[in-house]
Amino acid sequence: MKNAGGKIIVAKFGELWLRGKNRSDYISILVGNINMKLSGERFVLDKLYDRIVIRPDEKSFESVLQKMSTLFGISAYEVTKESAPKLQAIVKESIRAMEDAKGKGAFRINAHRAHKQHKFNSEKIVAELAGAAEKKGIKVSPKKYSREINISVTKDIAYISMQRFKGLGGLPVGSSGRCIVLFSGGIDSPVAAWLAMKRGLEPVYVHMHAFPKNEDSQNSKIGSLIGMLSKYHERHKAYYIPTHRFQMAALGSGRYELLMLKRFMLKTAEKLLEKEESSMIVTGESLGQVASQTQANLFAEEQGIKASLIRPLVCFDKSEIVALAKGIGTFDESVKPYRDVCSISARHPVINSDPETVLKIEKRMKLDSVVSSAIKSAKIVESGVR
Ligand code: ATP
Ligand code: MG
Repeated sequence: MKNAGGKIIVAKFGELWLRGKNRSDYISILVGNINMKLSGERFVLDKLYDRIVIRPDEKSFESVLQKMSTLFGISAYEVTKESAPKLQAIVKESIRAMEDAKGKGAFRINAHRAHKQHKFNSEKIVAELAGAAEKKGIKVSPKKYSREINISVTKDIAYISMQRFKGLGGLPVGSSGRCIVLFSGGIDSPVAAWLAMKRGLEPVYVHMHAFPKNEDSQNSKIGSLIGMLSKYHERHKAYYIPTHRFQMAALGSGRYELLMLKRFMLKTAEKLLEKEESSMIVTGESLGQVASQTQANLFAEEQGIKASLIRPLVCFDKSEIVALAKGIGTFDESVKPYRDVCSISARHPVINSDPETVLKIEKRMKLDSVVSSAIKSAKIVESGVR
């Protein structure tokens, strides 16, 4: 391996600090996720107490740096150089970094000494470096600055960084277990899935389709949307489930048909929970967004479902969801035409549904057996090593 001119990448965990004794488990999951994400790259990874240090090969450097922006559980990451934890060495390396830095304007110097036993403190680092910079004609100002240099001194190494990036934050995917995501291919459910991943949930996607073959739905925009979300975390599972038996059984449910379809989706997800070792179902529903998503309907569809039912978008405005979808990168794919099963249900769905009626229709159409047979005809696709 050829090192990248002494440049390394240092990742900070942010919220993982709060996790007390579970912290080291979280960090191990994060390290596993980093290794999975960087497979194919050449790098060496060191897991330290309060940071992860990645030393990419020169050729892999830019691509590794790019991938750091898609990892949940990292609050910030920096392009960093190292020096011995000695005042003169720190000043020398920092001056070199300031001279090499792109851009114009004065520097602000931020110094932090994590190891308090060193003979110098952070004020001393700032004062020495400011003096040395002035001699070289490099401007330093704590208030009127356009660039920053961050110096962090641990027991054995000082990290000197000129570029700091904000990470995605959240928790490492998998650290909160798995969840079943009811995934539609619209704008909302990919965003809901992403938010679930942000809180450490690894997704098991369940998509209901009206195609003759499961493969047709896998090869549609559903497969590509799932692929886009894998950019954030590769490991996932997807169920492609046909709805023709449901469509037959639901004939005659009139204005309740769409609600029964939702009920069918939730019951299918519920049935998969045990197998997927999860107790959480995630949907992209938002209150009042479409006529069917009323308080009464959300209540009626979920009655008796044994699960934690999470609706991350329930209080979001559509414009907020769209902005998130654009940032995540799923928006353009989500708005492509697709014959979603919801769109083939009856036109004017019930708004103020009666929970008892839902249960009656469910019995009449033998929903439980429809669910079992739907699961039997599913196509399951897995990605990423477990
Ligand atoms: P989305 O943008 O996610 O499609 P929406 O605003 O269009 O949401 P609906 O179509 O009523 O609203 O769907 C609400 C939620 O029901 C979706 O977010 C998703 O969780 C679930 N859902 C809808 N259609 C399907 C489907 N075909 N397969 C699995 N889940 C679905
Ligand atoms: Mg939809």
